[in-house]
Amino acid sequence: MAKPKLSVIASSIRISVTSKLDGIRSWSLQALETCPGSVGSDGELVAACSGCYATTGNYVFDNVKEPRLHNREDWKRSDWVSDMVANLNKDRFFRWFDSGDMYDLKLAKKILSVMEQTPWVSHWLPTRMMKFKKFQTVLAAMQALPNVMVRFSSDSVFGVFDDRHGSVIVPDPESVPAGTKLCEAYQHGGKCNGCRACYDKSVSVVAYPAHGRKMDKVIRIALAA
Ligand code: SF4
Repeated sequence: MAKPKLSVIASSIRISVTSKLDGIRSWSLQALETCPGSVGSDGELVAACSGCYATTGNYVFDNVKEPRLHNREDWKRSDWVSDMVANLNKDRFFRWFDSGDMYDLKLAKKILSVMEQTPWVSHWLPTRMMKFKKFQTVLAAMQALPNVMVRFSSDSVFGVFDDRHGSVIVPDPESVPAGTKLCEAYQHGGKCNGCRACYDKSVSVVAYPAHGRKMDKVIRIALAA
């Protein structure tokens, strides 16, 4: 996993950059603690979140955690939306939530405002917040924007998805379900290598091959059960 780097620009906006995304920037929060959709009706983490890459590796280091913890408070500032819009001045693609999720409805409404005010940017926002009824209106408003692709993440690690979902994990590249676009980053050292499928509204579902020791273990245990 490429180590996310902190990019400090004007204002207190903290942006991460991972080499995986070809240098495309991301605004993130701490995984799990901002992911209410990661917990199933049984109170346990859903399969996809049990193996979450953002809870291992470089993501446990203080210098990676610090901007995510900072962002959790920073978005509450009254001028956060205008600062984000200014910060995205030169971006053409932007990923929300390399880690974490849009846990608060007020944050969701602010992100919608940023998206509306940055039509030059193609935004990709992966989320599980569609599980909560009060988020559905703001998520629909995001998805209606021509420059935004909201991808509702399936909880499955075996390629199971339905009409709501925009992404799903598959155990390996040979197990790609019909109607999905295989993420081929595994063929390019874990990098996007020019692919922009996740930002593309014409790509309905992206299938991500499972990667990382933690996810491998989740899949092994599930297969053995
Ligand atoms: S599908 Fe394309 S854009 Fe999305 S993560 Fe994979 S390589 Fe990157």
